[in-house]
Amino acid sequence: MSRVYNFSAGPAMLPEAVIKKASEEMLDWQGEGMSVMEMSHRGKAFMSIAAKAEADLRKLMAIPENYKVLFLQGGASTQFAMIPLNLLGDKTSADYINTGMWSKKAIAEAKRYCDVNVAATSEDSGFSTVPEFSSWKLNPDAAYVHYTPNETIGGVEFNYIPDTGDVPLIADMSSTILSREIDVSKFGIIYAGAQKNVGPAGLTIVIIREGLIGNAGDNVPAMLNYATHANADSMYNTPPTYAWYLAGMVFDWVLQQGGLTAMAEVNERKAAKLYDAIDSMDFYANPVEKQYRSWMNVPFTLKDSELDAKFLEEAGKLGLQTLKGHRSVGGMRASIYNAMPEAGVDTLVQFMKDFAQANS
Ligand code: PMP
Repeated sequence: MSRVYNFSAGPAMLPEAVIKKASEEMLDWQGEGMSVMEMSHRGKAFMSIAAKAEADLRKLMAIPENYKVLFLQGGASTQFAMIPLNLLGDKTSADYINTGMWSKKAIAEAKRYCDVNVAATSEDSGFSTVPEFSSWKLNPDAAYVHYTPNETIGGVEFNYIPDTGDVPLIADMSSTILSREIDVSKFGIIYAGAQKNVGPAGLTIVIIREGLIGNAGDNVPAMLNYATHANADSMYNTPPTYAWYLAGMVFDWVLQQGGLTAMAEVNERKAAKLYDAIDSMDFYANPVEKQYRSWMNVPFTLKDSELDAKFLEEAGKLGLQTLKGHRSVGGMRASIYNAMPEAGVDTLVQFMKDFAQANS
């Protein structure tokens, strides 16, 4: 059977070369006589896999030395709690920017632990834009500022990094990490569930400035304390070894593609092709203000939603899969992460043109 173009928002497509290599190494990883799945996380073989993955991620993102890279479990959703639990210290409030569904989830979780000041929101616009930085009402006493650089459901992406001065900036990069270069030094914490641009589900990447580690209260569970994981090189308990190994192969693959600059070039082009198609036909629409349109998640609607089922069925026959939009917004969504080949976007664009013509 041939592989399809899978436009899922996550778990999402992985580079074919990575899956092939994993399958070649499935029974016997480099002469060890066992699969990576079967290895002790404390053995030499896995330790080398883990160290290479971290080194490659550091190289890719130019992560400064005063940052730890943690390979955790629990998904980005667990970070929604770990952030206030670890960063509040003596403070009682934190600033949050609300740009969509994932911001809201982070806010709801933080409210269990502190006063949440929503310093800016784009809810009035139906989350079709990003609040201008000059409009943010930041609290200088906040423990941190949290935002979601790319909203996976709304398809809204920041085109700037806010400058929050001495207040640590925390970013949920689940659906944008590794899509382009970013200056890690501007952030206190960058976190991401792996299942979009990094690897399989089950692994969560946390890149954290060292000064933010070690401030959790005594009542914070060990597993939810950054210090626990930082002090044990993410091996306090059994880490998600196979997901870590696959993520390492993805980092290697991104390096081979030319790193994040090369990735960004392709990503920008793929997104532009899709938005151009949407904008050039009355048949399709995307509500997001152009400068804030996501490179990774492209939601769009058909003029007549009665045609949605037919669109999905015919797309599916061409191997264009998982285009159905999130249940909360309807319509379609094409997630075009790093592993989506440009040919996948080209095939989708051609199909959209053909479908519009046949159904107008
Ligand atoms: N934040 C964003 C931006 C997401 O897209 C997602 C998952 N779709 C999450 C958080 C939640 O991630 P997880 O399922 O890994 O907890």
